[in-house]
Amino acid sequence: MQGRENCAPVTMLSFGRGRLSIEPSAMRYIEPHGHMVSRVTDDYLDMVTAGCAAVCEPAFWAGFDRGSVDGFFDYFAQLTEHEPKRAAKFGLPHFTWLCINPKESEDVALAAEVIGIIPKFLDRPTVLGIGEIGLNKNSRNEMKVLEMHVDLAARHHQLILVHTPHLEDKLKGTRLILDVLKGDQRIRPERCIIDHVEEHTVGMVLDAGFWAGMTLYPETKCTGARAIDIVEKYGAERLWMNSACDWGVSVPLAVPRTALEMRRRGHNAEAIDRLIYQNPVRFMNQCPKFKLAEG
Ligand SMILES: [Zn+2]
Repeated sequence: MQGRENCAPVTMLSFGRGRLSIEPSAMRYIEPHGHMVSRVTDDYLDMVTAGCAAVCEPAFWAGFDRGSVDGFFDYFAQLTEHEPKRAAKFGLPHFTWLCINPKESEDVALAAEVIGIIPKFLDRPTVLGIGEIGLNKNSRNEMKVLEMHVDLAARHHQLILVHTPHLEDKLKGTRLILDVLKGDQRIRPERCIIDHVEEHTVGMVLDAGFWAGMTLYPETKCTGARAIDIVEKYGAERLWMNSACDWGVSVPLAVPRTALEMRRRGHNAEAIDRLIYQNPVRFMNQCPKFKLAEG
């Protein structure tokens, strides 16, 4: 762990009549994939208290299919206007990624309309790239929409954040996604993060030169213990951990809690800091708009 000057700034918060100075823990981390629009404001407070220095929010499925392009326009405005303001109340920089999620990609005509409005938002100061794109059921239409997103990212020189399918579709879907990305000569793998990797997909992602994200879920995807096993096996050169913290069963503090488990298993403070802070910063810094609060 580095000196105090590199830690998140002390945050002053009002509680009733008094003011409480909250000293973040010695731990610092980035939440590189958190769906904050579905969380309550108290989660921001808990994250900052645990040492969160920035949160990055990919566009995702709302739990229902939006019926028109107008729904996405409002969602992108929420991600780029309202949510950064809510996070800023706690001194927390908030960034975002834009796309139509794979779950809503069956309607290719709607997807094309949504992809058509994304460039209107790409110049906004907190937009890091295109994401989370990818596949859900590995269908033909999802593949079409994935290719449209990759083309959009390439034309606008955007970073890419990829969602990989769940359970039995994951291995095949990850292969298909990597083939699309590798097949486009304009795409550089070090500018793409393939998220939700598990034991059977992380190797192929890292071997192809991409970054890999491990999503810490209490029930599905990757538990903290399994994520640490993966780090111990593959090293932490191009890996990060995130909580996803969406509207389903998920834990906004999954990253710092897993860091505590790493400490218990003998990982030193520098190795933990590299995985949960320096790595996401290194990846996100490829977008010049990514900036942490002065501290
Ligand atoms: Zn997500």
